[in-house]
Amino acid sequence: MENKLQELKSKIEGAESIIIFSHVSPDGDTLGSNLALNIILDKYFNKKADSVFVGKLPNMYSYLPNYEKFIDVAEIDKSKKYDLAIAVDVAAKDRLVFGTEIFDNAVYRVNIDHHKTNIGYGDLNIIDAESACVGAILYKIFKEWKLKVPLDAARCIYTSLMTDTGGFKYENTTPETFMLAAELVKTGVSPTKEYRACYETKPQSMVQFQAYVVSNTVFYNNGKIAFSKITRSDMSKFNAEDDYTEGIVEVLRTSKDVEIAAILKETKEGYTKVSLRSKTKDLTSIATDFGGGGHSFAAGCTIKKPVAIAYDKLLARVQSELE
Ligand code: AMP
Ligand code: MN
Ligand code: MN
Repeated sequence: MENKLQELKSKIEGAESIIIFSHVSPDGDTLGSNLALNIILDKYFNKKADSVFVGKLPNMYSYLPNYEKFIDVAEIDKSKKYDLAIAVDVAAKDRLVFGTEIFDNAVYRVNIDHHKTNIGYGDLNIIDAESACVGAILYKIFKEWKLKVPLDAARCIYTSLMTDTGGFKYENTTPETFMLAAELVKTGVSPTKEYRACYETKPQSMVQFQAYVVSNTVFYNNGKIAFSKITRSDMSKFNAEDDYTEGIVEVLRTSKDVEIAAILKETKEGYTKVSLRSKTKDLTSIATDFGGGGHSFAAGCTIKKPVAIAYDKLLARVQSELE
């Protein structure tokens, strides 16, 4: 690990152009990590890195410091050759979608992640599946480099930690999680403010949309399975943005007997994005069967089928898991 961190440091110092990638359908970890790293590169290495997103940037994380600096990867010239590309929280290279080419083109590629399904697609791979979030990995790296993490970066890392642990309650919540949270709070982060900014600023239509999706839930196998699907027409009925689906699958899992919950969302014609959550079963084999990945109790995939067909296929696979 030490050698890897030395290697990363020397690559940063030697780079004139740096790009930091977040994964498609970005969440709090990939965005918070991206901005935290950018802040540290600027403050301690005097490097102005491009923080990029792929697809749509959700509004719910707009409270993060420097959020307005995020660049749409589609706006970057495909032939541009960066000295250094760093992917944070990107489980598989295809989660960079049309950013993949720019990532591949870079002189040196770094993959910093905590998904156990990550195969190590970078020239340098810093993967710690024991870490609750990538923000926690970065914090360790900054500490190793003896850098004092300023409040704005601490806020970003706090969002990584808060969102990926589901507000300090998922299985990835460990003593280290609370120790890191304590350090961040000591730095000046307010748990109440960050929580409010992240989770209690929903548009009214989002609250109604989420209730609608939850009310469409169908239970199978004596309540062990909960599925709900979202079509594009549901989305347009509520004027729903991409991030309106955030957190719904966790609500399905709150039912007493549920072991596996899934939300299937039609993203474009013939494409279904799946979010899987579990209380008991390791989901990674289900997700990888459909070309996705993730963690034991939170995984996902995109099935290249219309939502009704994807639904039946996934349900059969989930039912076989519970047999
Ligand atoms: P989500 O349901 O989108 O919040 O994703 C749950 C977990 O699964 C996250 O850790 C994602 O990074 C991971 N995941 C979701 N979709 C994919 C995919 N297509 N490939 C690999 N990992 C995924
Ligand atoms: Mn993520
Ligand atoms: Mn993560």
